[in-house]
Parts: sequence; C-alpha cells; structure tokens
Amino acid sequence: MHPNIGFFIIFTFYINYCDCRKYYNYTLYRGIPVEDAHLKFFMNLTKMYDVNFWREPGLLYKPVDFVVSPEVKPVFLKEANNLGLYLTTMIVDVQKAFDMQTVKTYIRRKMDSFDWYSYYRTEDIYQWLRDLAKAHPSEMELHSIGRTYENRDIMSVRILLKGSKNRSRVIVEGGIHAREWIAPAFVTYFIHQIIKAPSSNNMVLKEIALTYEWFFIPILNPDGYEFSHVEDRLWRKNRHDGRFGVDLNRNFDHAFGTVGVKFNKQSEIYCGPYAFSERESNSMANFIMSKREALEYYFAFHSYGQYMIIPYANNKYHEDNFDEVKNMCNDAKTKIAQRFNTQYTVGTAYDTVGYVTSGVSGCWVKRRLRVPYVVTFELRDNGFHGFALPPNKILPTCQETMDGVLSLLSPRRDKFTELRVTDSARPAFVMDKIVIFFNTFLFIIVWFD
Ligand SMILES: [Zn+2]
Repeated sequence: MHPNIGFFIIFTFYINYCDCRKYYNYTLYRGIPVEDAHLKFFMNLTKMYDVNFWREPGLLYKPVDFVVSPEVKPVFLKEANNLGLYLTTMIVDVQKAFDMQTVKTYIRRKMDSFDWYSYYRTEDIYQWLRDLAKAHPSEMELHSIGRTYENRDIMSVRILLKGSKNRSRVIVEGGIHAREWIAPAFVTYFIHQIIKAPSSNNMVLKEIALTYEWFFIPILNPDGYEFSHVEDRLWRKNRHDGRFGVDLNRNFDHAFGTVGVKFNKQSEIYCGPYAFSERESNSMANFIMSKREALEYYFAFHSYGQYMIIPYANNKYHEDNFDEVKNMCNDAKTKIAQRFNTQYTVGTAYDTVGYVTSGVSGCWVKRRLRVPYVVTFELRDNGFHGFALPPNKILPTCQETMDGVLSLLSPRRDKFTELRVTDSARPAFVMDKIVIFFNTFLFIIVWFD
C-alpha cells in the first residue's frame, strides 16, 4: 500500500471516530497559597476532586493553576472560601480556549504551507522536516532515534552547515510533555532559523548557526503529543500501557524517584518503575550518549511560566557552574524582554517554580555527561492562556525565544568549556539511594495492591 493511502486512512479514522474528551465549562483557576493550610488543601486536591494541575503547588506564595470540572465547582469553591483561599478565574471555559488552537495540515512539498500561525500534528511536522532535509541534502539529515509504544518514530534532525566551524555540539529537546504544544512549535522554528541562516541578514544568527553541530528532537513524546490532539488535550505523559503512561521528564537517571514524583500510575507525575524504563527516555539517553563528545549545550523546551531553569531540580543548592549559567540566562532574559517585553525568571526549579523534582532530562545530561550549559525553558505564557496559548502567540513566542537562545549560544570562550568530572559531587547520593529503595518498596506494594 502506498504510504500516502495508509496515512489517509488513519487520518480519516481519527476524524470519524475521535471521541475526544471535552472540557466545556471546566474553569482554570489560580490560587496563591498564603498559609500552610492552603498548601495542604492543594496537595490533597486531586485525591478529592477531578482537578487537573497546570502549575503544581510548591512553596507558599507561588501561584497554583488548576482546572476544575463544572460538577465539582460549587463544592470546591465553598471549601476554598472556608479556608480563606483567594482564587482568580483565569479561563472561564477551557474547552472554548482549546477550540481556538487551530491545527493546520501541512501540504507535502509545499513548504510555505508550514508556518508559525497554527499548530501541527506529528506526521505533518515530520513530513515538513523530510521536505526541508530534501531541500538541504548536504546540510540536514533526519534519523529515527527509536520507536515509541505506539510504533511512532522519534525523529532527530542533524544540521551541519557548509563552512561551519563545528566548534562543539548543541542538543535541543522538545515535546517531552504532550500538552505543551508551543514546545515542538518552537523547535521547528529553531530548526528553520538554523538551516536558513546562511541566507539570513541577521549576522548574529548566521555566525552562531555556523559555530555548532546541531541536533534537534522536536517531539520526544509523539504518542503523547498525538493523544493530546485526538483524545485528551490535557494529556502530559507517554502512552506506555495505553492507559496511564509515565511522565518522561521524571524518568531520567538523575536522583530518580527521590523527590517531586509519584509512584502511583494514575498520577500526572508518575516517574515509572525505574530510571529509563520508557522507550522514549531510554532512546533519548542513548542518543545523547552517542553525541556526548564536545556536547556543550543542552536545551529542553516546555511550557508554561516563562522560566529559564538551571540544574539541578532535586535540591535547593546552586551547584557546578550555576552562577556562570545564571549570568548567561540573565543576558538572554534581557534580550527576550527587548522584543515584546516578555518577562522571564531565572534560577533552579526550586527558585523558579517553587518545588523540587527528580529524574529530569537536563539534570541527567549535566550530572552524568558533564555538559556545561543546560537550560530548561518554560515558554509562554504566565498563565493567562496557559496550555491554551492561542495561535497568534506562536510566532512572537518563537521570535523572542530565538533571541534568548542566540544570546545563550554566544561563545564566552574560544574553546568549548568542559565541566570537571569531580565538580559538584555533593555527597547526597547515599540519602538518594535510601529514598529510592523506600519508594521502590512502596511502588511494589501499590503495584500488587
Ligand atoms: Zn513540561
């Protein structure tokens, strides 16, 4: 069968039989916990009600964003009121906001049918990449780094421009969390900027594009991404068992299972049974390992919150070259603000989102492979639209983020910087191991329950 026909049949199947979960009259609220009772209330929320967190509770005074179903709303609001918890309505009807997120189809070999005014499905992004690679045969190649549970390719893009200095390597990760649609959109923009850089008038872009060997994974979690398009817009994890899935950004082998995760499969932050238990994270780790030589930068793109997050996510400390990376991020933050006045916050996960967590891809890359410059971006916005970021915000988000990324990529030294292997080895590992043991024990209990 011709592949086009196969795709067409699958496509029609989705259109005809899609039984998407709808979020009509679900409301996005923001609450700011100002006392411990509020935090406790938030922590127990998912146990009591049908509530979906868009921004998890962490520290006091850090905003918590969450969606409440229409059925639960009255009792929930009453309880919040009793606790003196002040709530702001961010989006009255979440489904209406999602309905504004147009998804366009890419027309094969018609490169201008791909733009940054709409979102695209996985196969459309992949086809656009194939066409782009075909147009730049000596500079851009595509490879599959592995397959998902639903048998989709996890595509990687390699770019090495003609006349490049090839000083060191950059890896760009996008789409590890399914519902964060702006992340793959930005990575496609990034790819486009780099491959088109030689003919650009932007000398800074041109110079930087010619400085590195580039690797991009635009959609690390294509099963989840597809699921968020056709079944449940708020899906975050992979699709391991077709039902629960694993939070892939909790599944990397850095402080695995110690903090900020759940061993309960139903949880949004279920970290999986053991580190790299998942095809996606495991394929990604193998891929990164294979490019470890002269790997200088690792960027991961998420949404939302407008943060640049520096490792490590599992504690409050500022380790390794934190201060150096923070200075770089502060310069990038200034560049980003210069375009549309979008304000970013820089720091560790604890400093920014206000909670600690573990098994994060960038943390594993930095600790294990000693990659000096690792930054996780939480792209737009600040919660006004959240995951329902409208299509007219895609291009401005991409433009400003590119400004920030170029600033981060301006070489500070003549040579590729290396972190010393002995740096930062804080003796916390024994404690980590004890916590892992305990969590695994709990997991086994839950598993066989
Ligand atoms: Zn994310």
